Amino acid sequence: MNIRTNENFANIKPTYLFSEIGARVRAYEEANPEAKVIRMGIGDVTLPLPAIVVDAMVKATQEMGVKETFRGYPPEYGYGFLRDAISIHYANLGVSVDPESVFVSDGAKSDLGNIVDILGTNQVIIPDPVYPVYVDSNIMSGNHIIYVKGTKENGFLPLLSELKGENIGSVIYLCSPNNPTGAAYDKTGLKAWVDYALETGSLIIYDSAYEAFISDENIPHTIYEIPGSYECAIEICSFSKFAGFTGVRCGWTVIPDTLRAGSVNIAALWRRRQATKFNGVSYPVQRAAEAALSDEGIKACRVNIDYYKNNAALLSELLDEKGIFYTGGKNSPYVWMECPEGFGSWEFFDKLLNEVQIVGTPGEGFGKGGDRYFRITAFGSYENTKEAVERLKGIL
Ligand code: PLP
Repeated sequence: MNIRTNENFANIKPTYLFSEIGARVRAYEEANPEAKVIRMGIGDVTLPLPAIVVDAMVKATQEMGVKETFRGYPPEYGYGFLRDAISIHYANLGVSVDPESVFVSDGAKSDLGNIVDILGTNQVIIPDPVYPVYVDSNIMSGNHIIYVKGTKENGFLPLLSELKGENIGSVIYLCSPNNPTGAAYDKTGLKAWVDYALETGSLIIYDSAYEAFISDENIPHTIYEIPGSYECAIEICSFSKFAGFTGVRCGWTVIPDTLRAGSVNIAALWRRRQATKFNGVSYPVQRAAEAALSDEGIKACRVNIDYYKNNAALLSELLDEKGIFYTGGKNSPYVWMECPEGFGSWEFFDKLLNEVQIVGTPGEGFGKGGDRYFRITAFGSYENTKEAVERLKGIL
């Protein structure tokens, strides 16, 4: 063909991480058919949806089969009932979010990837290691990225003092609690970023997908707990980890009406973007999401979250016992551990697979800063996590 493609795609690193993990595990299982491999690599939930959520989805689906209650295209920004429920969710967290500022989507990943559509060429600041979508979507747009390093010294919570770029208006991505490190900013840590954004005229894109795992009181559940954030922050969240919606698909973005780039209203741009390129989330899914945010729904989701948190606690206790440095495990389903002396993250992956048949995720899949770290997830079953802890005891 005689067309030009987006040449920026050539600059994206191939996403070989999970395919390479899959290939190594398959090869091991073929050579060792008797082995019981425990998978603790992928960040997907495993518990089924709470009954109240399923019931709401079934009821809504049945409504679609009856003339009087059938619905066609949903509103692009979400049904009022769900935007209201999300606004109430924020009120329960102690902050005020206008339902009109809530944009319902088919998941946080779409919004995180699509938000670049409404932003021009900017200095982009991204923590390393981190969820790869921020980096790749900015590379696709040809943006220049400055990385702020998560390290053992800063507890994988990159600090402003490590920022090497210019102090100019930038787009800053923050993810707290973080994937993959499980580290979460406390109010002071997050306030420093908000203050910086206000001083420099920057925009923070705050990914709170793991908010529901927070149990420490000094960790904010939303960036809007921080004064000044309504002037500098977009928040993107998801039903995936909170309510087990990874296969159902629903999330949301909050863009306060107070966000301005010069005289441009950021929310107005997103409204235009969504109305042009997105046709909304299906009615049954939005009813299911609404049910997850009801009092009974939250209680049911909590049972699942507590189950995963208990798994995370088993893993953290082991690492505490062994004196191994790690982050996460407390306000997060992820445990991010330092590899033993002399091991890179892939070497440690092979060691665990070959010696104790445990599959985790090599840290370098999340950025250079992860090359000596390893992510283990708590999203598996209690029985498998317990068994994994026993096996790990023997070799750590
Ligand atoms: N943000 C982070 C930090 C994630 O780890 C994930 C998924 O693993 C997502 C967003 C994607 O969420 P969703 O399933 O709503 O697209």
